[in-house]
Amino acid sequence: MSRKKGKLYVITGPSGTGKGSICKEILKDIENEFSVSMTTREAREGEIHGKDYFFVTEEEFLDNIEKGNFLEHARVFGNLYGTPKDMVIKQLERGRNVILDIDVQGALQVKKAMPEAIMIFLLPPSLGELRKRLEGRGTDKADVIEKRLSGALSEIKLIGEYDYYVINDDIDTAISSVKSIMTAEECRVPDKVRDIIKKYEQEEKGE
Ligand code: ADP
Ligand code: 5GP
Repeated sequence: MSRKKGKLYVITGPSGTGKGSICKEILKDIENEFSVSMTTREAREGEIHGKDYFFVTEEEFLDNIEKGNFLEHARVFGNLYGTPKDMVIKQLERGRNVILDIDVQGALQVKKAMPEAIMIFLLPPSLGELRKRLEGRGTDKADVIEKRLSGALSEIKLIGEYDYYVINDDIDTAISSVKSIMTAEECRVPDKVRDIIKKYEQEEKGE
């Protein structure tokens, strides 16, 4: 019997909105696989190779592009980021759900390659609050923060491509909204028709 495939959740939104924070919390409670991306960005203090990202040189990254190893890849604020294809496909085949925390350009590439992906756009409560979060995170220099902020509105304008939006104002409310989206997706009838009918048929037959 073929196993049911897992679902692919794409979580995107402007840098500093809270994608990383929300994904981390969700992964504590819900058994999902997080896709670890490859990047040419320098590791921030405390980031672990293989857990937060696979940190590679530009040459290694380009070699992976050439070998067709990415599901999607994009240059984001000067650095290259990409989703390794193998891991995602393997986990989905095993029936595991996979979460991608990626930028808007990459998210749209995933939607094209895998139209069944569930696309969630995370919004900041305001552009002013987004600035505060990027400054408060303290991980990026002022010019990098400006670069990240200047792209935010044009990213938000692409929201029409997404299935769901969540405003990350109060983080607990936002986490619970993302979890609710995942629960709703698990209850979609088209994916479960056979299983549902079988369960009641078996009961009636006394199996
Ligand atoms: P992203 O992954 O989208 O770039 P992060 O998860 O790194 O964003 O969050 C950016 C900063 O904002 C972090 O310092 C984080 O602790 C903070 N943050 C995230 N969500 C909220 C929230 N709802 N309210 C206040 N601060 C938040
Ligand atoms: P950061 O440098 O803050 O970790 O990430 C910068 C941006 O790159 C964020 O919006 C993040 O979601 C995005 N990103 C992280 N991994 C990937 C990836 O594999 N592909 C793409 N396209 N974007 C990514």
